[in-house]
Amino acid sequence: ETGATAAKAARRLEKRDIDVYVGIPFCPTRCAYCSFVSQSVERSFALVPPYVDALCGEISAGGEMVRRAGLRVRTFYMGGGTPTTLTAEQMDRVLTAFETSFDRTACEEITVEAGRPDTITAEKLAVLRTHGVTRVSVNPQTFEENVLRAIGRCHTAADIDRATELVARCGFPHVNMDLIAGLPEDTAEGFRRSLDRCLTYGPDDITVHTLALKKGSRILTEGLRIPGAETVAEMLDYASPTLRTAGYRPYYLYRQKYMSGSFENIGWCRSGGECWYNVDIMSELCSILSFGAAGSTKMVVPGTNQIQRAFNVKYPTEYIQRPEKWQANQTAFAAFYEAL
Ligand code: SF4
Repeated sequence: ETGATAAKAARRLEKRDIDVYVGIPFCPTRCAYCSFVSQSVERSFALVPPYVDALCGEISAGGEMVRRAGLRVRTFYMGGGTPTTLTAEQMDRVLTAFETSFDRTACEEITVEAGRPDTITAEKLAVLRTHGVTRVSVNPQTFEENVLRAIGRCHTAADIDRATELVARCGFPHVNMDLIAGLPEDTAEGFRRSLDRCLTYGPDDITVHTLALKKGSRILTEGLRIPGAETVAEMLDYASPTLRTAGYRPYYLYRQKYMSGSFENIGWCRSGGECWYNVDIMSELCSILSFGAAGSTKMVVPGTNQIQRAFNVKYPTEYIQRPEKWQANQTAFAAFYEAL
């Protein structure tokens, strides 16, 4: 099934189609399983405004480069970190920069990750609606209070309910929700309850991740207790038939290193609920132009699996101070398409 979706994704692509990614490497607090470069805003609040300034500059230059190269943007994805850590005004600035710099005529999908429910407000969602965002991702990971505490989230399950209801009321065409099987302190029953609660919202995409043990994450540095492989298998054995019965089918999957029990992450969706950016990133069929710190730009020779990559600097401070790195990446991106 995931292969069929990748084949469909390949059919919808033309030679000069690209995806655009914007990274917001800030989060309200750090999750116990995270090793990403994301900075907690509690500690790096002052960096956010200059980061947004630098990002808008990069997006604007990228738009000019894409226009000159005659490329067509098919999807736009704002991830992180947690993009909704930005204020409503800052989100408005980033989305306005995208809107004014790129021709969006062929851009079918504009996704914004509103991962942490404690960052979602009616005001921010209104900004997303104004800019034509087609998909919002709310990522509870679990609805179990003890698990939320164990992973370092500063909110309750009731906050997830409130945020998800708020998103539902805004009428976005698509809503994603993510869960993780194997989180510290979770049990097979706890995971079952989380999935059942997720299903009550009827999102058209539910991604079930399996916990990956990442270097530098608090799970490893603090030795947090995690469920064994058998329990994780029990969680996934519940997820698969339950999601199928509810009308979902797997549409993309990927593995990461050091996953609990060597399982995989699977994106499930209802018919027509696919996030094409997710399919493109996994099938590696489409170039991705990434903006922001830690961005990874991918240049794919159309119709082949030949890929060149260009990486942005990792941390926001460096990103703000060294625009020459993203400038060099954009030059490489333009040269890649010129040579095709
Ligand atoms: S929301 Fe994601 S990026 Fe942010 S701390 Fe948690 S796992 Fe890391």
